[in-house]
Amino acid sequence: MTTSFSSIINIETGRPQLKDNIIKTIPKNILNILKEIGKASEQFGCQAYAAGGFVRDLFLNTPNFDIDIVIEKNGMEFAKKIAETKGWKLKTHKKFGTATLITSDNLKIDIASARSEYYKAPAALPQVKAGLLSEDVMRRDFTINTILINISPKNFGEITDIYSGIKDIKNKTVKVLHDISFIDDPTRILRAIKFATRFNFTIDPHTQKLIKEAVDKNIFASLSGKRFFTELEYILKEKDPVLPLIKLFEYKIMQNIHADIASNAGALSFLNRIKEVISLYKKNDYSEWALYFIGLINNCGKEASEDICRYFQIPHNQKILFCDLRIEAKNLLKNIEKNKTAYRKISVFKTELILYMMASLKSPVKREEIFKIYKKAKNTKILTNGNDIIKLGIKPGPIFSEIINRLFEAKIKGDIKTKKKEIDYIKKYLSEETPIIKNS
Ligand code: ATP
Repeated sequence: MTTSFSSIINIETGRPQLKDNIIKTIPKNILNILKEIGKASEQFGCQAYAAGGFVRDLFLNTPNFDIDIVIEKNGMEFAKKIAETKGWKLKTHKKFGTATLITSDNLKIDIASARSEYYKAPAALPQVKAGLLSEDVMRRDFTINTILINISPKNFGEITDIYSGIKDIKNKTVKVLHDISFIDDPTRILRAIKFATRFNFTIDPHTQKLIKEAVDKNIFASLSGKRFFTELEYILKEKDPVLPLIKLFEYKIMQNIHADIASNAGALSFLNRIKEVISLYKKNDYSEWALYFIGLINNCGKEASEDICRYFQIPHNQKILFCDLRIEAKNLLKNIEKNKTAYRKISVFKTELILYMMASLKSPVKREEIFKIYKKAKNTKILTNGNDIIKLGIKPGPIFSEIINRLFEAKIKGDIKTKKKEIDYIKKYLSEETPIIKNS
């Protein structure tokens, strides 16, 4: 995509210039697919429109390969027809009446019926019914996400911009469509913060006021933790999640989740250190968002972390990482700093925990040391087994793991390469350190 934003928008009026200009910004392969879907919509007896983030990002000149299509007929039936004729993969989401097509180029196309939504109660999931295109636009979160591009053959490229979304994109503004938007759906507060920080937009002053009012009314109390976490996870997966996380603190949203997060005065500098550590670690054998989440709850004890995970309905294996293993890593770091045996444990830690330990240290030299210990520990293998220790006259018991831990530590620090050298070390250790245990 090479066409610049100014060539699509008339600077004077903020209105789109020729529809051809927007068409020029669409990559060829996507353009062809839009045309094919448009043709199919004609055969299906309706018009089809590109919508949502895909269109917004065209105006922002930002690549977005997740295409959203809306039609005023049954979107699921339409998607099924296309899948049959083109041989594309189809996933239907019956609960939402939507479908996803996966093209042979692996492009993802969401097809939805135009719908209207209404909220029975604040923060509840909306009641959905088939609606007109204008109603479908009305249910959306922000003006910047309401622009439609007609993709049917006769009107291909025609832009519908009921809420002046193009002008708001030009003015770099995130703005809701109506005053009870955040009461209907508080997840939109997180979305507003996400879009504003991602695109370097400002949240329009009235929309900011609505956010503050909704937070003051404690609107998040009526939102399920699961829905909150889904949006939080999207934020944690942003290219730079620290910016939106700062905003979540500024709007006092994180503090609402758990009092111990509120007392986390160092949270932001900790998150910045995580960002630093991530930028230095080049492999992608871990989950960045999970590391940021760990940073977010850094000051919470085990009980508080478990409360938070329970509220967010975080799956068991992730809960183990965020609560149990995170606390273990924290304690391990203390032990390493006190020079106690801890190296064997570090060798089995997931990358998230190693990077967490590194981010816990302010000194880059100390971080480097931890990383070196980890790399060495990972490559350290113990050649001696239980039988070898029994042969030295030791009865099986807790002393075994003490011996192996000591040996592990010595191997990391020293030059013990062969099994013979290991046995020699154990003999020396037993004679010096534990004559009582040996004889008991
Ligand atoms: P991203 O670039 O982060 O994927 P997106 O705008 O594509 O963002 P999606 O979450 O894929 O967002 O949603 C697609 C469209 O559905 C949005 O552009 C918006 O119009 C609408 N939408 C999504 N979530 C909401 C919501 N909570 N309330 C109203 N409209 C929403």
